[in-house]
Amino acid sequence: MQRLIFSLFATAAFGLSPVAAVETAPMPSPAPIGAMVETSLATAGRQIRQFAFDGDPASYFGSEKNPGKDDHFTLVFDAPVDVRSVTVSTGRAGGMDALDAGTLEVSADGKSFESAAKFADGKAKTDFKGRKVRAVRVRPTEDLAHPLAIDEIIIESTPRVAAFRYPIEFVLDVADAPEMKTWAEKTARICERQYPMICEELKSDGFKPLTVIRMALKSDYNGVAEAGGGRIRGSVKFFKAHPEDIGAMVHETVHCVQFYRSRGNPGWLVEGVADYIRFFKYEPGKIGRLTPERAKYDGSYRVSAAFLGFVTEKYDKETVRKLNAVMREGKYKETVWKDITGKSLVELGQEWRASLAK
Ligand SMILES: [Zn+2]
Repeated sequence: MQRLIFSLFATAAFGLSPVAAVETAPMPSPAPIGAMVETSLATAGRQIRQFAFDGDPASYFGSEKNPGKDDHFTLVFDAPVDVRSVTVSTGRAGGMDALDAGTLEVSADGKSFESAAKFADGKAKTDFKGRKVRAVRVRPTEDLAHPLAIDEIIIESTPRVAAFRYPIEFVLDVADAPEMKTWAEKTARICERQYPMICEELKSDGFKPLTVIRMALKSDYNGVAEAGGGRIRGSVKFFKAHPEDIGAMVHETVHCVQFYRSRGNPGWLVEGVADYIRFFKYEPGKIGRLTPERAKYDGSYRVSAAFLGFVTEKYDKETVRKLNAVMREGKYKETVWKDITGKSLVELGQEWRASLAK
C-alpha cells in the first residue's frame, strides 16, 4: 500500500518537474509574466475583458453600461516589469465608442496610479523611456455617453507580459446563494487562470475553445458539479461544506474545453482526462490513495487519471492530447491506444497494475 502511494506521487511529480525543464533549456530567457484584468465595468454580452489584451485588435472588450469617471479597466501584472511603452486603442469597428475623455495610467506597485498619457481619437500611448510598471489602467475623465470599447492594449516590456492566448470569462450565477459570491468569484478567477493550461494540454487542429463559460451554484442540485455546453452547475450544499474543493470546478472547466459532441466516447476516459488535467497539472500530489484491487484502467475519474499518467510517462508525453483529439472528432476507437503506444489497452492496463503492485 505504502509503495503504491509513493509510485503514484513519483509519477505525478515527475510529470511536471520544473527542475528537469530548466536543465534541458538551452538559453533561459526570462519567462513571460502573466496578467489579470480588474475592472469596475460589467461585460457586454460576449465582449469579454480578456479580449482587450489577446494580441488580436479585431476582438474588443465592451462594457455593458456607459462608464463614469469612477470606473476603470485595469491590467495587473503578476510582477513588475520594465516597460518601454504602453499603447491602447479603443473603439469598435467604424470608430464607434472610441474613448476621448480619458487617461492611460500606470502604477509601479499596482496600488497608486499616475497619468501616463491622454486619449485622443480613441488612442493613447505613453512617452516615457522606461519604467517599472505593475499595472496599467484606462479611466474615463468624465461620465461617458457611450460604452467603453477597448480593442487592444499593447505593452513593450522586459520580461514580456503574456497576452491572453485563450481568452476566457466566467459569468457567475449565485442567485441561489448570494453568500457564496466571494467564493464563486475566487473560484472563477482560478479557473480562468488555469484555462490557458487546459486549452494547451487539450489543443487540437482547428479547435477554438469557448470564450465564455457560465458557472451557476444551485441549491436544488444534489450532485457535486456537472458541465455541458459551456455551462457549469455546482451544488450550493457541496461547496458550502467543501469550499477547498476548487479542483472539482477545474475538472468541470476541463469538460468545457473537451467539448465532446460524440456519444461514442467512453465515459471512464472522458472523466479520466478531466481528472488527469486536475491531478497531474493543476494540483499534482493530491490524487490520493489507490487501492490496487480497484485499480482498473477504466475505473474512471482519478483511477483512470492515474492510468493516463502512467501511459503518458512511459510511452508518449502527448498521450492525453492525442486521445482528446480523436474524442473531440468523435473518432475514438480502442485501436488508438495501439497507434499511440504499440500496445493494446488491455495490455497497458495490465502493465499499469503490475507497476502498482511492485
Ligand atoms: Zn466530470
